[in-house]
Amino acid sequence: MAEKLSAVKGMNDILPPDSARWEWLEDKVRTLMARYAYRNIRTPIVEPTPLFVRGLGEVTDIVEKEMYSFEDKLNGEALTLRPENTAGVVRAVAEHSMLYEGGKRLYYMGPMFRHERPQRGRYRQFHQVGAEALGFPGAEVDAELILLADALWKELGLTDVQLELNSLGQPDERKQHRAALIVYFEAHSDVLDAEAKRRLHSNPLRLLDSKNPAMQSMLEAAPQLMDFLGEASLKHFDGVKAMLDANGVAYRINPRLVRGMDYYNLTVFEFVTRSLGSQGTICGGGRYDYLIEQIGGKAAPAVGWALGVERVLELIKEQGKDIPMPVLDAYAVIPETSALPVALRVLQQLRAAGISVQMHSGLSVDGMGSMKSQFKKADGSGARFALIFGAAELAQGCVALKPLRASAEAGEIDAQTLHRLQDVALWANKLGSPIV
Ligand code: ATP
Ligand code: MG
Repeated sequence: MAEKLSAVKGMNDILPPDSARWEWLEDKVRTLMARYAYRNIRTPIVEPTPLFVRGLGEVTDIVEKEMYSFEDKLNGEALTLRPENTAGVVRAVAEHSMLYEGGKRLYYMGPMFRHERPQRGRYRQFHQVGAEALGFPGAEVDAELILLADALWKELGLTDVQLELNSLGQPDERKQHRAALIVYFEAHSDVLDAEAKRRLHSNPLRLLDSKNPAMQSMLEAAPQLMDFLGEASLKHFDGVKAMLDANGVAYRINPRLVRGMDYYNLTVFEFVTRSLGSQGTICGGGRYDYLIEQIGGKAAPAVGWALGVERVLELIKEQGKDIPMPVLDAYAVIPETSALPVALRVLQQLRAAGISVQMHSGLSVDGMGSMKSQFKKADGSGARFALIFGAAELAQGCVALKPLRASAEAGEIDAQTLHRLQDVALWANKLGSPIV
């Protein structure tokens, strides 16, 4: 036998029945996005590397060490598997002049790639759902996006999700804060770790993000960006807070919330949970009014968030919420291969009428298997009814219908489905095809 191959480390196969949980979540997302008038956008998984280097910032975890980058073998172009999709959406919006007629509300779902150390809630291929509103400067859109995420947690039945909020102000305000930070960190260089020392001058704000326990008390006392915000920035932040308050959405102001990418300004936020251990951030986002211009588009304000699908699904599992699994209406038991042509025609009609039916198929080419083994499969399928394509019934233009679950008779199945299933005999009759 040839050597067995396995999936790339940190990249997962999503198999049934687990994939049904993914489909359920995706359906919920689609429905909710439509209610908030966010439209779907699909951009390529591979983008030019400079898009991320310029968009996310050179001194960020992602650009420094997490990107899957490669060279196009033919023309040498530097390409990268997208580590996130805000930059891709912004590129597409600029490329297609999508803001020409006003703002746009967009959402996406799909795989992202980051070369991280795989662990629970952290993978090398993972999936995000993201929502982005471009072209709108007002705090009401920041609030709308946060409310949209909050509504999604409710739709998914999630509890123990907390909102953390901060404002990063504007670039000039950050510059003053940055200068104050550097002075402060230099004065405390004895407690800085190697990573912090390296970033001290290139990206001091990111030091606040450090999880090193030895640095926590020093970081707690560092100069706060909030104290450097001007009137307009404070007004924007107050606007967001007032709209959240009016909606009864609780939040905690976290002055150390800075987010991983350089592109944010004003509002930044994260939804965190205590139920997932150290990978507790399920969603993060904020305003990025300067990104479009930075990647060569016409300047326009924007705000958005992205959630980690694996973490959200893990949280749903952790909280023991039941997710409806697909149910089969019927399982087709076909005793003899001679009945297959008629059976396939009947099944085709039933499915066209909206009924889900699994066809029995034998495990050898020349037989369908015993009735006993077919019924065993029918039972195991979870179907509510067995349709039996027996020769005697077919000779009379009928198909036998047998409830497989006590509840099927007791009326759990909706009347319309039952009615359609009972019509099977009629279908077979109408088809009137001779049994080969
Ligand atoms: P973290 O601090 O956990 O590394 P991040 O700040 O890098 O997260 P973002 O870039 O804001 O994350 O991505 C948004 C969301 O995507 C995160 O809140 C998380 O739920 C999810 N996510 C990010 N990286 C991964 C990963 N490697 N595996 C699984 N989910 C991830
Ligand atoms: Mg990260």
